[in-house]
Amino acid sequence: MLLKYHTSHFLGFRVAYNLLITKHQIAKYWRATCYHAQGDMFQTTIAKESFAEGVGLHTGVYGHVRLVPAPAETGIVFRRVDLDNFLIEAQGQNVARVSYATSLMKQGVLLSTTEHLLAAIYSCGIDNIYIDIDSIEVPILDGSAEPFMQMLEQSGVRKLRRKRRYLKILKPLEVTEGDRRIGIYPADEFRVCCYVDFPHPLVGQQEVEMLVGPDTFRHLLARARTFCFQRDIAPLKAMGLIRGGSLENAIVLTNDGVMNGPLRFPDEFGRHKALDLIGDLALAGLPLLARVEAHKAGHALHTQLVSRLLSDPSLWTITTGEVARPESDAYLSALSPASAAD
Ligand SMILES: [Zn+2]
Repeated sequence: MLLKYHTSHFLGFRVAYNLLITKHQIAKYWRATCYHAQGDMFQTTIAKESFAEGVGLHTGVYGHVRLVPAPAETGIVFRRVDLDNFLIEAQGQNVARVSYATSLMKQGVLLSTTEHLLAAIYSCGIDNIYIDIDSIEVPILDGSAEPFMQMLEQSGVRKLRRKRRYLKILKPLEVTEGDRRIGIYPADEFRVCCYVDFPHPLVGQQEVEMLVGPDTFRHLLARARTFCFQRDIAPLKAMGLIRGGSLENAIVLTNDGVMNGPLRFPDEFGRHKALDLIGDLALAGLPLLARVEAHKAGHALHTQLVSRLLSDPSLWTITTGEVARPESDAYLSALSPASAAD
């Protein structure tokens, strides 16, 4: 069965871009290699440190980020190096206020706009990493996850001598708020489907569906930038937000076009929302074996889903990758006459 990786609705028409074929090839390639990688089933960290620096989108505070290798079972952990290396684990229980970005808070220590960096780390299958940061907000850089992918590329991956553990979803969970909803469902791999609908000539209805992995993330989502509407700029500034926002780190949509084009993808908005979704799902704390469907959702619904999921252990189990797929293979071979004759 061929899976639908990506389609877009534009001005009410369903458009399949030429890139679709390439995307299918990328996805197939990823699936082929990913199972080998998962076959090893070892946890990973990065091989060496990498750095970036820049302004925070909402606070306008300039900060420095350093990715640092971490031992097995560390998870993804922020270290506020300006506050005595205070640790803030990238986990659901540390989610703070969530509006236009996802912020973590632990014992009063805040860290904002984690989603783009977490999306890159999570999609790349990095289980253990320290993110050293000397400011209250992760730098926005160009508004996408591409600079973080470049950092991870510089860092490289190192396998650790410890089995990787997955959060495998056993029962569905849905969170709804008006016409916005998000659901998580059992699956043997990590797959997301993200649908957005903004009444704007350049946006409209857009949908992204994909298996999440390093190659699919790099090719389909990493370069998609954050965006805002010109009419929202003054109100957001009045709320004390987007103090570091500029035409270099966000697409600004006017009433009928874009102020700082060209776009990197015709459906860059839908892709960016999928990127945000993955970054928020990273707060599950372990790699997911699940299918997640987001319909006009946002950071608030994403993080609500993660929190409710983690607070109900009857919805999931923690497993090593070994039992995820072979379970069904074993079942099939048990049914086949060939295996009975063996
Ligand atoms: Zn974003």
